[in-house]
Amino acid sequence: MKNESECCEPAAMPMPTIHTLLLEKALSLGATAAILLPVETLVVEERFAALCAAPHRCPSYGLAPGCPPHAMPPSSFREHLRRFQQMLAFKIDAPIALLLGVERPALTRTIHSIAAGVEQEAVRLGLVGTMGLAAGSCKELFCPQEEICVVLERSLPCPHAQLARPSISALGINFSALAEAAGWPFAKITAHSPAADQQAMGLMAGLVLLPASAN
Ligand code: SF4
Repeated sequence: MKNESECCEPAAMPMPTIHTLLLEKALSLGATAAILLPVETLVVEERFAALCAAPHRCPSYGLAPGCPPHAMPPSSFREHLRRFQQMLAFKIDAPIALLLGVERPALTRTIHSIAAGVEQEAVRLGLVGTMGLAAGSCKELFCPQEEICVVLERSLPCPHAQLARPSISALGINFSALAEAAGWPFAKITAHSPAADQQAMGLMAGLVLLPASAN
């Protein structure tokens, strides 16, 4: 016979219901669109993580745990992906000019807050081990005035742990392949593209890796 505590444990929510709630959560936090995809859809390549170091070394290279060479190398990340079954990909649409302009850090912080918010909601719903991934270095986004990262240099907890998430590019994720799998076309436009091109819409994306079942 079950004791009182056993009989009062709530039944795990069906996965389709959890997925629907997480998609709604991403939209409520500011995502333009969100979609569920099999984790096997992700393409992880060393060459993308290598771009953090060369040919144009990122100013945040080596300054945060989510940035190379401290970030999980792509080969380890591919192994780590075996723990997950599905992923929730989300994006924010914005004009290219805005993505390349002074608004970029605020937009990127929103990607982190969506990834962290969906991750926390997934854990609350029983998906322990869920992993949110965002864009850009947390050093330049959350600690631009700090001389050091206290996680790296002093082994202290991250003061922005509720928001800051690892960068998808640092892990070697092929962003173009992800956008294509999600059905989100975008043009590759840089700061050197003609101004007319920069009026076009672009996108910024994040991910939440989801385990197969709720505990
Ligand atoms: S303290 Fe946290 S947010 Fe700041 S750089 Fe370190 S890990 Fe990133």
